Amino acid sequence: SMAEKYFKYVIVGGGVAAGYAAREFAKQGVKPGELAIISKEAVAPYERPALSKAYLFPEGAARLPGFHVCVGSGGERLLPEWYTEKGIALILSTEIVKANLASKTLISAAGETFKYQILIIATGSTVIRLTDFGVQGADSKNIFYLREIDDADKLVEAIKAKKNGKAVIVGGGYIGLELGAVMKINNFDVSMVYPEPWCMPRLFTSDIAAFYEGYYENKEIKIIKGTVAVGFTADANGEVKEVKLKDGRVLEADIVVVGVGGRPLTLLFKAQVEEDKGGIKTDGFFKTSVPDVYAVGDVATFPMKLYNEIRRVEHVDHARKSAEQAVKAICASEEGKSIDEYDYLPFFYSRAFDLSWQFYGDNVGETVLFGDSNPKSPKPKFGSYWIKDGKVVGVFLEGGTPEENKAIAKVARSAFISASCSCRSRAFLSFSEKM
Ligand code: FAD
Repeated sequence: SMAEKYFKYVIVGGGVAAGYAAREFAKQGVKPGELAIISKEAVAPYERPALSKAYLFPEGAARLPGFHVCVGSGGERLLPEWYTEKGIALILSTEIVKANLASKTLISAAGETFKYQILIIATGSTVIRLTDFGVQGADSKNIFYLREIDDADKLVEAIKAKKNGKAVIVGGGYIGLELGAVMKINNFDVSMVYPEPWCMPRLFTSDIAAFYEGYYENKEIKIIKGTVAVGFTADANGEVKEVKLKDGRVLEADIVVVGVGGRPLTLLFKAQVEEDKGGIKTDGFFKTSVPDVYAVGDVATFPMKLYNEIRRVEHVDHARKSAEQAVKAICASEEGKSIDEYDYLPFFYSRAFDLSWQFYGDNVGETVLFGDSNPKSPKPKFGSYWIKDGKVVGVFLEGGTPEENKAIAKVARSAFISASCSCRSRAFLSFSEKM
């Protein structure tokens, strides 16, 4: 049998959180040989959001090593050589298929055994597939999902093979909206299908959504709402040809991209660690219920101090920050020190066409739309704020400058800092009135 490998610290999963954790370990002075990242993917940690954006551009597409972490947040790019220099073992193309937290053992698909003193779970999410629900024909060729670089590469190949063809996007979340745009930029005839009354319903108000839907329609993207894909037909080669909708309509398709959500990859640790809200439950230092085991990024369900609630967040900014927090907590506790609890202000963003939005805070309470949200405007710029108990708790801004985006972040947080709140909120309201 193969020899066991031991590392003081093991990160299982090699995505965004793993990369930012590695950088923080290096900052904290991790010694050569102490840290390993074990990843199913074949490449060093990279900024995953690029996959649904610049990676799919017909010209000037982003490619590795261009978007390895930590460039997404303006940091130094960690090339594979960086890990070698630091003595951090990057164990790639290695899927962990068994975890035993009691004996501190991980086993890979190839049968290797890894032991650790401290484990960081950073397995992220996987996509929900239409085949999971037994949708007829959902296993046809050229029906794509997008999570990892391999998925994106397959889609790039299909875009080339089906030049100027027809694309159907299933799902109206941010993946759907980004993919709809990028397929149009690739000169596909694009239709989008989703069951909800408007796109991105988990965040967008109907007013916000009306802008994006109008903008997409101006780009000649067909939007079909209130129905779902219930089946696919394929040609003799097994390639998808049609999407059948529940309302009876049939759409022609050369490529289908499905973005109907994700689910955190917690299965390896089922019944070994406490879970909550679909994720692995942690404290404000990303410690789980099992000693020496941490969970970060998409898989962690953690206390959101600001809202006095337990939540799970599937966004890149939190993946980065939770990873840094966990590593700081690990290193501090080794020195008998403590650090402040995680105090996270939710931040999401998306980009498509020439559009770019940011959202900070919580989308609860009443909403007020401001600015120019006419999708036909040459330079649309608008936003929305959410008000609860007389305070601005969330702010959305499309087309903001870097300074304005910083300003909305402050506003969203300041509602919780009583002393500066009213004055910041007032300043913000006057800012938004001027738009
Ligand atoms: P991931 O980055 O998903 O990394 C998990 C890693 O673990 C992967 O490498 C995976 O292969 C590996 N892994 C899983 N199981 C195992 C196993 N058993 N053994 C070994 N390795 C394993 N967020 C935003 O805020 N803005 C955006 O614009 C945005 N765009 C996105 C676009 C796309 C296409 C996707 C998929 C996500 C996007 N996100 C965006 C979300 C963001 O990328 C995630 O929240 C973030 O990547 C989570 O980081 P993570 O480290 O927890 O998980």
